[in-house]
Amino acid sequence: MTPQRIVLKFGSGILTKLQTPEPDPVQLRKLVEAVALLKRAGHHVVVVSSGAVASGLKPLEFIKRPTDMTTLQALAAVGQTHLMHAYENLLRDHSLHVAQLLVTHEDLENYDRARRVKTTLERLIEFPQVVPVINENDSVAIEELRFGDNDKLSSRIARLWQADLLILLTSAPGLLRDMNHPEEGPIPVVEDVDVVIHHAQEEKTALGTGGMISKLRAVQDAVNGGVQCIIASGRHAEQLPDVVAGGGICTRFLVRK
Ligand code: GLU
Repeated sequence: MTPQRIVLKFGSGILTKLQTPEPDPVQLRKLVEAVALLKRAGHHVVVVSSGAVASGLKPLEFIKRPTDMTTLQALAAVGQTHLMHAYENLLRDHSLHVAQLLVTHEDLENYDRARRVKTTLERLIEFPQVVPVINENDSVAIEELRFGDNDKLSSRIARLWQADLLILLTSAPGLLRDMNHPEEGPIPVVEDVDVVIHHAQEEKTALGTGGMISKLRAVQDAVNGGVQCIIASGRHAEQLPDVVAGGGICTRFLVRK
């Protein structure tokens, strides 16, 4: 099997408990186990992880997520260290270490800074025991706090790093055939993401609301840049090796020819 460059995106929705916005340690453990499996199989893995705001709620004694931006930024500043601590602890069980990279969209738009992010990533993956975990630098930028939950950040990182595969892990098992009938499961392959986005915008279906449309835009950006994308359930991280190998329950978005 050829080693692949894989960007895994973990959104807040899959890092937290189902009923409350606080981090779910069981879920994080499963995700880290999947990362370790992929690394053991020889793949190069970069994680784009949200969860800073969620991880700041308990230390700052919030019961629910506030709405004002400055408080979200403060929560992220506190939560980011808790999040990294959790990653470091869980990765240690697999003899792995976390490398934290906090970036903004402006950083990635600036040629010199983007190049430095890329060369740092390239150097980091020369160390097989390291897992780079990237988040938006929420104390200086609010783009992903406002919308996106790191979807856009993950596609930009995937393009910059020239990844083979971007996997967006979400609460849905993929792009559903019919939102009203989730039992019909996800569409296995999408050849043209533009058509799906157009449909979502026209129809104003549940597909068009927040989460999925932002993911599809990230997919569009990635496939246009030559990165194959997959949307899969983050609640079934154990299937990630299958998904990478071409199977599993997910939606695969082909690279634009
Ligand atoms: N960067 C943010 C985080 O890590 C984005 C996600 C959010 O708004 O919760 O929490």
